[in-house]
Amino acid sequence: MAGSAASSTPQPERRRPRLLTVSRAVRLTPNMIRVTFAGPELEGIPAGREGANCKLMLPALGQDREAFSAQLTEGPRPTTRTYTVRHFREDELELDIDFAMHEGEGPATAWARSAGPGSFCGFAGPSQTKVAHFLADWYLVAGDMSALPVAAATLEAMPRNAKGVAIFEITSEADRQDIAAPEGVRMHWRLHPDPKVPSGAQESSVRALDWPEGRVQTCIADESGIIKALRTFLHKEKALPRDDTYISGYWKIGLIEDEHQEIKRLEAAS
Ligand SMILES: Cc1cc2nc3c(=O)[nH]c(=O)nc-3n(C[C@H](O)[C@H](O)[C@H](O)COP(=O)(O)OP(=O)(O)OC[C@H]3O[C@@H](n4cnc5c(N)ncnc54)[C@H](O)[C@@H]3O)c2cc1C
Repeated sequence: MAGSAASSTPQPERRRPRLLTVSRAVRLTPNMIRVTFAGPELEGIPAGREGANCKLMLPALGQDREAFSAQLTEGPRPTTRTYTVRHFREDELELDIDFAMHEGEGPATAWARSAGPGSFCGFAGPSQTKVAHFLADWYLVAGDMSALPVAAATLEAMPRNAKGVAIFEITSEADRQDIAAPEGVRMHWRLHPDPKVPSGAQESSVRALDWPEGRVQTCIADESGIIKALRTFLHKEKALPRDDTYISGYWKIGLIEDEHQEIKRLEAAS
């Protein structure tokens, strides 16, 4: 019987989410907060996963650590949001996550805004990195503030002789970051002060690029509407293979993450 065969097969143990503790939170730029987690709960996180995503589970307002710890084990599932590992310093057991601040002020943004030493949240992951192998003649990296962590991690991991273009839309001039990108990648920073107003500028700039010969790989993340247009351009008009194009909607105007994820699931299934 299928049921008894399945029950005799050892199942991998599903690790309960880690309960992480904040050691510091700093305003990296006017609209970006870097939260650093530290401590033994980070043991066992694989090194080299900068740019991979993770799930953060957020305590309810005023919830104490003990009650939240019990909830992580017993449920119900706390409010959960997706973020990116920006740095993991294995020797010091420190992990950085960068939170873009936005006016919608969802629970993750609000949590990061008030985080300080001793704050806590749940953590699951990380996933695999988004661009695992660098095989291109030319790279296209693009995104908004929510994409800066994955884009920066990818640019920093590229071979130093890589060539390409990176185009970022940031909320204010002071939101530019120092990214250790290869010299051959031209960096462009454009202002888009209100991310809730759809921007067609990313698509126009990508379309206007002098498209080179050879293999192209991308790392692009942004608001979902922008991604839809860019995905059509890359896959249909430029015929880039899906394996070479990391392109992902990181949020959607007017929707909270759970609603956005549900739409992504339905679209993937159809
Ligand atoms: C794989 C992946 C990795 C991600 N990594 C990061 C990361 O490292 N750093 C990061 O800042 N974000 C990252 N994001 C995006 C982040 O998950 C969303 O922005 C999330 O919605 C934020 O949660 P929230 O609780 O603040 O807002 P929600 O409760 O989800 O939404 C509240 C309101 O805010 C709006 N909103 C959500 N995000 C934004 C935004 N960026 N700008 C303007 N309005 C917004 C929504 O449309 C909604 O109206 C990532 C997303 C994915 C899928």
